[in-house]
Parts: sequence; structure tokens; C-alpha cells
Amino acid sequence: MTGQPTLFDLLDFERETVAATPWRGAPLAYSTKYHQPADLAAAFDRYKAERGSFGCIPRSHMWHTSIGGVEDAPAIDGHDLHLFTADAWCREADHDHSAAPLPGQGMYQANCGRCRWHHIAPSWQEVVEALHDHALPGWRSLPSVPAKLCRSDSTQATAALTRWASENYPEQWQRPGAPIITPRSEHGRRHVPGRSPFGGFDLAAD
Ligand SMILES: [Zn+2]
Ligand SMILES: [Zn+2]
Repeated sequence: MTGQPTLFDLLDFERETVAATPWRGAPLAYSTKYHQPADLAAAFDRYKAERGSFGCIPRSHMWHTSIGGVEDAPAIDGHDLHLFTADAWCREADHDHSAAPLPGQGMYQANCGRCRWHHIAPSWQEVVEALHDHALPGWRSLPSVPAKLCRSDSTQATAALTRWASENYPEQWQRPGAPIITPRSEHGRRHVPGRSPFGGFDLAAD
């Protein structure tokens, strides 16, 4: 019996139409070769259009920016910086990765579209630091903010930290996208995008 096509039929039809259109962009799989940030994003969109969004991150193993904050790389000195992550391990019964084995863990990628530069590693910290080495060499010699200024996220504490940075950071490091270095406790050592008073990363001191 044939009735009206359901929403699912229509979605299937749309996906089949997309799948029938040749794709010559970045791979629809985990890859480590250099691709422009926009090409990585376009490939992930294509995967979703072809196979749906459900489970697209663990099933595709592709580079994406959809996890909160991961894409928030600052714009610095004309560099075109982006951060991606990929679920590069597999628990899917219908997948065979023997031809191109996955690294078996979550991976991060920093990517500069202008310089065609990228750095891939399983460590967020390493990738964020590589991004700063690329776009802001010299950041490692910036002073760390005194610990007493980092004990609270209150408006007053943030104002005090901003004042300290404006008085103590070299002038050329007080520009949009510049990072700040803060001491951390044993927990919370993650580099945080957008938390510097200058709009760049709040980088954990060693
Ligand atoms: Zn660059
Ligand atoms: Zn897989």
C-alpha cells in the first residue's frame, strides 16, 4: 500500500540525492593531511547532509568545531586560526578501519588557513600552545599573573586582573587576541579560550 510520503521518506530522498552528487572536497573521514578550515567544515556539513546528524561525531570521526568553545581561536595579526576536534576512536560494529587505522583517542587540531599550517595532537594543551607558537612567538616569556589576583571570577576580581595585565604586560602584548598566563591549582589546568582580558586564551602557567 502506498500512502503519502512521510517525513522520513523525504529525508531519505534528500540524503540519497546528496549521496549521488560527487564529492571532491576534504575526506569524509578522519584525516591528518592539511586541509583549509573552511574545507574541513564543508566536508563535515556534507557528511551530515548525506548521512544525517545523528551520531555524526562518533561515526564520521571527522574534524568538527561543534563542541562548546573548541572553535574559539582568536584572530591575531592576520592569521586565520581555528581549532578542531575529532573522535578518532571507534566502537561502531559496522566499521572497518584496518586500511587507515585511527589513533584510538580524541584528537585536536590547530589550523591557520592563511599559512596552510596545522598541528595535530591528542592533547588540547599541546595544540593550543602550538597555535600560540605559530601566531604569537614569544608568548612563553610573558609573566604569570600573581596568584592572589586569580582566586575569584567576580567582576571586581576580573577588573583587578585586567588592571594588573595592563600595567605589567608589554605594550605589544596588550592587543586583541593576546593571551594571559595565570597560575592554576592542580585541577583546572586547561587553557581557556576567550578568558584573557585581551580576548585571547587564558593559558595555564607551567
Ligand atoms: Zn598563520
Ligand atoms: Zn569507525
